[in-house]
Amino acid sequence: MSELAYPYEAPASQALFDRAAAVTPGGVNSPVRAFRAVGGTPRFMVSGTGPYLTDADGREYVDLVCSWGPMILGHAHPEVVAAVQEAVARGTSFGTPAEGEVALAEAMVERVAPLEEVRLVSSGTEATMSAIRLARGFTRRTKVIKFAGCYHGHVDSLLAAAGSGVATFALPDTRGVTGAQASDTIVLPYNDLEAVHAAFAAHPGEIACVITEASPGNMGVVPPLPGFNQGLKDACAANGALFVSDEVMTGFRTSRAGWFGVEGVVPDLMTFGKVMGGGFPAAAFGGRADVMAHLAPAGPVYQAGTLSGNPVATAAGLAQLRLLDDAAYDTVDAVSERIQSLVTEALTKEGVAHTLQTASNMFSVFFTDRPVTNYDEARAQESFRFTAFFHSLLANGVYLPPSSFESWFVSTAHDERAVQRVADALPAAARAAAEATA
Ligand code: PLP
Repeated sequence: MSELAYPYEAPASQALFDRAAAVTPGGVNSPVRAFRAVGGTPRFMVSGTGPYLTDADGREYVDLVCSWGPMILGHAHPEVVAAVQEAVARGTSFGTPAEGEVALAEAMVERVAPLEEVRLVSSGTEATMSAIRLARGFTRRTKVIKFAGCYHGHVDSLLAAAGSGVATFALPDTRGVTGAQASDTIVLPYNDLEAVHAAFAAHPGEIACVITEASPGNMGVVPPLPGFNQGLKDACAANGALFVSDEVMTGFRTSRAGWFGVEGVVPDLMTFGKVMGGGFPAAAFGGRADVMAHLAPAGPVYQAGTLSGNPVATAAGLAQLRLLDDAAYDTVDAVSERIQSLVTEALTKEGVAHTLQTASNMFSVFFTDRPVTNYDEARAQESFRFTAFFHSLLANGVYLPPSSFESWFVSTAHDERAVQRVADALPAAARAAAEATA
């Protein structure tokens, strides 16, 4: 057993973690799950119901991660479970077209006006990778602009200055990505339109697209400044490049039509994942029909997937989208606001410098008293306070993302009892944050 920075009372999780470490690098299948940013034993979950997760030691947590976004109706929503059971009983994969994928695409197109056509894939990474390939194929240009702190999955060319797990580990670069792949990526500071104009001026006729998180959640929640996304769109239009809005995190979460529904800036291409899969591996990219027409088999840009449009995943996603009406978003927004004000109240009472930032119902806390508008400012926070805050909440049955560079997520299932449990746990966590030392 390894030396741990924090005492743990999770022997069953620890035993599973030890077993996992023998057969899986670092004991996990996605790096942030390993708790390396906060120390201690990652909790191995055995079940989820509504707003709660239960770990292998039988402890229940109020879940403020919601599987990093997808579980917007809470865990094991009965209607989603029923749709999945019904689909599974009809067969789990056909390798042919099926009606469910048409229905899911139709539901997405109906909600998000700029989506004229959609191609289904299995992960957000695949969605952004494919959107970039399509943008390059369409424009016949090579370079891509991305922003420091924006995470678009582990696409080789987009792993430069990415947020999320890459931010957590502060890797300047990822080994295994070649110089050629990285050299076509131009990384600029987020919320800096001047830098975008300068990059277009420096590379005339070379930039295929600008990709940005519609409202970033992977360096903590750092919303676009007013006019930033519109400025990106205008700069792309003026220079013959495509504007790609990554809505993998915000899509169908921040509103019925995602961040597009909040801000109304029309992208050329968009990417989706998380909520649209109802907890299953389903994702998508789409947008302008004339651009999408370049995709195989209609056009020359190849893209494919054995499990794309999987019937179980599309059934789950469709069931979830159908339940996400205006009332559902009102509920998620209201729960989010309740928890935001409880967090602010607790930290203020203990005199902890903090800035709580929101993007609709997504939010996160930065341990700094300054507003955070880009990745450098996000990294300047006192992350050691987050570590103490996180562990105190964990010990009192509240599960936060195990990193200060992540959004928190709530669901329609976070009822009064769940919110009260967060309220009860917050004063001690705020005290722990106040007392923490670097
Ligand atoms: N894009 C954004 C904005 C994301 O937040 C993520 C994942 O968190 C991805 C892309 C990658 O999605 P996936 O983890 O499904 O590959």
